[in-house]
Amino acid sequence: MSTPVSTVKPLFSASARLANVKPYALAGVFAAREEQHAQGTDVIDLGVGNPDLRPPDEAIRALEEALRDPAQNDHQYPPFAGLPEFREAVATWYGRRFGVAIEPRTEAIALGGSKEGIVKFLLAQLDPGDTLLVCSPCYPAYLSAVALAQAEAYEVPLTPRHGLRPDLGAIPTDMARRARGIVVNFPGNPTGGVETPAFYDELLRFAREHDLFVISDIAYCDLSLDPAYRTRSFLEFDRDRERTIEFHSCSKSYSMQGWRVAFAAGNRDAIATLARIKSNMDFGVFIPVQRAAIAVLTGPQDYPARAAATYRARRDAFLAALAPLGIPVEPPKAGIYVWLPIPRSEPHGGRSSVEFAASLLRATGVVVAPGTAFGAAGEGFVRVALCQPEERLREAAARIVASGFRW
Ligand code: PMP
Repeated sequence: MSTPVSTVKPLFSASARLANVKPYALAGVFAAREEQHAQGTDVIDLGVGNPDLRPPDEAIRALEEALRDPAQNDHQYPPFAGLPEFREAVATWYGRRFGVAIEPRTEAIALGGSKEGIVKFLLAQLDPGDTLLVCSPCYPAYLSAVALAQAEAYEVPLTPRHGLRPDLGAIPTDMARRARGIVVNFPGNPTGGVETPAFYDELLRFAREHDLFVISDIAYCDLSLDPAYRTRSFLEFDRDRERTIEFHSCSKSYSMQGWRVAFAAGNRDAIATLARIKSNMDFGVFIPVQRAAIAVLTGPQDYPARAAATYRARRDAFLAALAPLGIPVEPPKAGIYVWLPIPRSEPHGGRSSVEFAASLLRATGVVVAPGTAFGAAGEGFVRVALCQPEERLREAAARIVASGFRW
């Protein structure tokens, strides 16, 4: 009998596709958090963007009603693309919120979260070796999806100097020509950067010039922290849905992130591609959850307004309590994060964002996410999630002030 040769793969080894994906960027922070917790530290976790607000009563009521409905249909497999009424609700929401007319049957689809939708869309859309322009720092799932597709991401930096928007003119022409699409996310995770009409006009021109598809992620569109700012949809600009697919979610607007319900709207070929991959990989969103989403999307929008007011008060409380440190930080105009520069001067300068997050945790028990978890351009920053009550955020800031870190 011959012995197995070393070229034989271990029984459960990752595929080249999966091995191409970097390990989860916040895993190190979470491990350190658990260690601190085990040592008895009162850890304040500002690391993950996991809303702590209760979902709207309308959602819970609609879910309960659907669960108890004696008709059996709601417990069966849902239609792949979502209930017709769900897609109608998406169209109604787009019409009311942005004045954009969506054709519900062909231009909208239900998703089990926008993460699921974005990752599957990129898997369905990209071939190995393709290039995608991705604004960076960014929501890490874009980069994981590109890696899973064995494609290449060209990270376009978002810097405070450019208003936390990409400088499209600085993208090398050969890269823009080679790329198949671009991903934008305004209001942005992790930066809190927002779009402007001038930027979206420029983006559409740029996408037309280089024949790019546009993925627009508006997961935070209802959480304006600045009374003068109201998020726009990119579909207000690409009005003919020529090259855009836009993703939105009930996770942040209605604090329903555990329910896993979201949607995409836009170009019908893009929606068809997404429907096609989904029909091979999942069975759609549980119908009672779709009914709850219909209730919140078509009902009065006072819940997101109240949630935004809560995040605004938290942002203000946190930044006011940090004020003695004189950190050069712009209060974010939208979203649930503060994008905080790390100390640059001695004695605390010269560290990476990973090292700073680790030493901050050891010194204060406060967990923040290192900027590089969101792409190379995140170096020099950490992300603070405003997903704790005001008093905990004040306490976190007070500990940072007392810790002796200087900016
Ligand atoms: N996009 C962005 C920018 C996000 O920050 C998140 C979640 N943090 C998502 C999409 C995914 O949200 P969900 O899958 O819950 O819809």
